[in-house]
Amino acid sequence: MDLELFYKESKSEYSANKKLKDRLRKAKSKALDDQFLELHEEVFEELDCLDCGNCCKTTSPIFIQTDIDRLAKVFRQKSSDFIDTYLHRDEDGDFVLNSSPCPFLGEDNKCLVYEHRPKACREYPHTNRKNMHGILGLTLKNTLVCPAVLKIFRQIGKDYRK
Ligand code: SF4
Ligand code: SF4
Repeated sequence: MDLELFYKESKSEYSANKKLKDRLRKAKSKALDDQFLELHEEVFEELDCLDCGNCCKTTSPIFIQTDIDRLAKVFRQKSSDFIDTYLHRDEDGDFVLNSSPCPFLGEDNKCLVYEHRPKACREYPHTNRKNMHGILGLTLKNTLVCPAVLKIFRQIGKDYRK
């Protein structure tokens, strides 16, 4: 994966994608969800996250309490010690990582705690969920992080920019 090229392209396409996001707000909710789901499956059939790892390298998932308790158990720590070691609260009061890349990311882009990873990591980049209308702003931001989301926007754009 050529991440430098991805950054260049995602930045240059951002303002067009922002306009597209505003048009998508007017789409019917169920039709939009179906379209995202279809493209999500199509794009991830071809794209291997192990060639990328950009989400784990550059952004933090939110850790909910059950994530913290589960991971603390893996490290045989108390949940409070896990928090002290790895996490802080962001401006919204959510627990996020102290640093990026994620300390649990291996050199081969494999997640060292894959079976126990946070819910947010399992669901990223959220393009196969219901009610995409509710997260169009977040999804637009993710065009700058995730090559799969950029590809999905490109494909959806072909229909909505006609
Ligand atoms: S816990 Fe695993 S999947 Fe989640 S950000 Fe860290 S390395 Fe990536
Ligand atoms: S940024 Fe997207 S394509 Fe890259 S590893 Fe994360 S989910 Fe996969």
